[in-house]
Amino acid sequence: MNSSMMQMPLLISSLLVHAERHHGDQEIVSRRVEGDVHRLTFRQLAQRARQLANALAALGIRSPDRVATLAWNGYRHMELYFAASGSGAVLHTLNPRLHPDQLLYIADHAEDRVLFFDLTFLPLVEEVAKRSTTLKTFVAMTTRDHMPDSSITDLQCYEDLLDAQPGDFAWPMLDENQAASMCYTSGTTGMPKGVVYSQRSTVLHTYAAALPDALNCSSGDVILPVVPMFHVNAWGLPYIACMVGAKLVFPGPALDGESLYNLIESEGVTLSAGVPTVWQSLLTCADQHDLAFTTMRRTVVGGAACPPAMLRRFQNRYDVEVLHAWGMTELSPLGTVCSLTGAQRTKPTQQREAMQAKQGRAVFGIDMKLVTDDGQELAWDGESVGNLLVRGPWVAAGYFRHEGTAPLIDGWFPTGDVARIDPQGFMQITDRSKDVIKSGGEWISSIDIENLAMSHEAVATAACIGVKHPKWDERPLLVVVRKADAHVSRETLLAFMDGKIAKWWMPDDVVFVDSIPLGATGKVQKNLLREQLAPIRA
Ligand code: AMP
Repeated sequence: MNSSMMQMPLLISSLLVHAERHHGDQEIVSRRVEGDVHRLTFRQLAQRARQLANALAALGIRSPDRVATLAWNGYRHMELYFAASGSGAVLHTLNPRLHPDQLLYIADHAEDRVLFFDLTFLPLVEEVAKRSTTLKTFVAMTTRDHMPDSSITDLQCYEDLLDAQPGDFAWPMLDENQAASMCYTSGTTGMPKGVVYSQRSTVLHTYAAALPDALNCSSGDVILPVVPMFHVNAWGLPYIACMVGAKLVFPGPALDGESLYNLIESEGVTLSAGVPTVWQSLLTCADQHDLAFTTMRRTVVGGAACPPAMLRRFQNRYDVEVLHAWGMTELSPLGTVCSLTGAQRTKPTQQREAMQAKQGRAVFGIDMKLVTDDGQELAWDGESVGNLLVRGPWVAAGYFRHEGTAPLIDGWFPTGDVARIDPQGFMQITDRSKDVIKSGGEWISSIDIENLAMSHEAVATAACIGVKHPKWDERPLLVVVRKADAHVSRETLLAFMDGKIAKWWMPDDVVFVDSIPLGATGKVQKNLLREQLAPIRA
């Protein structure tokens, strides 16, 4: 029996149409590469996105041509999100922090046709332009008076392209399952792999991510996505803002603590989202200048484990609630959010904080399970540790042009993360499977050790890696960056940790370094640390 419901495809363009109709006066504020702070409304953005859709057509872009971007968080980047995906082309956000060789590989592998870029990235784009076999058109996202001298022949100007086009464009009724955007994994080993999001998966992810027990967004919010638009669509926040009518504040290239703080205060930001390393610099700036957050009430921390010490600092010192979230490129990205239940909110502070340090419960649409290496399902008892598998309508079933590989196991996506899940369904990541420390046949959680080390007042960052051991196979080595002007010795730190974790989890040694290598998405590169430090220990 058929339903009597309409068959309306779930389309990204409908998010913008909704924002224009119902929240037309809502603002999008962007700190630009040109240095100034720019403002426009959803109504104006929608009009410019239609002009841009016409401009893409005039450049010869057809569905499903790939439209690449190399850009910071800003309104022009957002216009591209909607003009490309809305008109049936495929938005491909490139990560400027990647090595030019990797960028070139990704652009050619995805068969990008046109590249839109912020001026900051001109040297990188010139390098790519010389060698790319697929990119034919390059557009600098600026006005005529800021157009640079460049080795790129026929370099186009973004605002000129828009000016030449009318503001009427009928968003096509696309197939909701067709490709809308793509993002490559950061690939610490091997070449990056392309994940292709559909119109439908994006809209469903938007609904779920906006929910109260997920990111809890509404028209009363002022959202600052510090997480880049070049990495998994800034966790979907540009789409969410359209769906709920929230004000958006884009930081552009100014991601230092002071610039972020000023923007948060001047624009009345209520909710922000970013990786722990970014928040570290914001908190350092706030601590040093004895600042207060007068409007920011919540911050989403994800991409890497949120150290409990950071959580406590945000909540207890600054009255900013931390929403710990977990996800990945293959999950669009949201998988879990650590939103406390009503009953948990009434618990004593320490218990609440211990709960919030977990990565949280699955948002509706995501199904999770834990399995052993040989596929046996593990109990959700808060203790059993195993491989985390997920499935859902916004989880990747495969990679772009990677036919040989079938990532799914009986319809489940193996995340590569190792976790435990408690009886209430709160998941806690203990490691990446390739970073797990195997000692005497048992697993040691590097994240638990790092979190403990980072709760010492003199420790800025810590990373724990496994190094070879003749008897135990591997033993933990703790790598520490001290806070500026802080002193802590190996012995003091080990004494501080002693008794707070199992004896056999205690690091065999502590190495103090000036910095810990971070990858293109702000994660500690443990493979590099192992390469650098393991030989010294051998
Ligand atoms: P990416 O696809 O580059 O976004 O990286 C996804 C990976 O980042 C996940 O598989 C996790 O290993 C890690 N990750 C993301 N969020 C968290 C979190 N809250 N805690 C621990 N690891 C995380």
